[in-house]
Amino acid sequence: MLITHDTRCALDAVVDLVNTAPEDDATPEGLPDVDALTEFVRNHDISDVGVLSEFDLSAVRKIRGRFATVFAAPEPRSAAAVINELIAAAGTTPRLTDHDGYDWHVHYFAPGASVADHLAADCGMALAFFVVAGEQERLRRCEAPDCRRAFVDLSRNRSRRYCDSRTCGNRLHVAAYRARRKEAAG
Ligand SMILES: [Zn+2]
Ligand SMILES: [Zn+2]
Repeated sequence: MLITHDTRCALDAVVDLVNTAPEDDATPEGLPDVDALTEFVRNHDISDVGVLSEFDLSAVRKIRGRFATVFAAPEPRSAAAVINELIAAAGTTPRLTDHDGYDWHVHYFAPGASVADHLAADCGMALAFFVVAGEQERLRRCEAPDCRRAFVDLSRNRSRRYCDSRTCGNRLHVAAYRARRKEAAG
């Protein structure tokens, strides 16, 4: 499956967005205020976004919850239903562009779209391509017991089970190794 520069950026943005949600009451909100949202927009080079407001913040948190369900979807049909709903609400306007020296590619957000609609349109379409390519199962949540972070598995054989943000895979390796040693010693 071909992943263009913009698709890659949209995937990084949506994964980071989903992972700003607090996992439980003990973890902090990753988008606590408008300043945090402004920083998120800047970090992800989200273009054509004006001054942000409380309205933008609550709209982005709302679509964040919808995107989270895409990563938790057990099969393509339920993922497709949520993606359809997100991109329909955002009102997409496909538009060819070769901005900033990148090859021709398509932007989906409508001119003047709010940041929430921008994310819903372009991230929604990036996820839609995974469903179209039969690759929906690459949109995953970490399987480590105390971590449910979203990630996109871009490994060749779709074998990734853990996110890399907290070296979950590595931690479990160590735990398994210790368990084996204990068994051998016991
Ligand atoms: Zn672009
Ligand atoms: Zn993890």
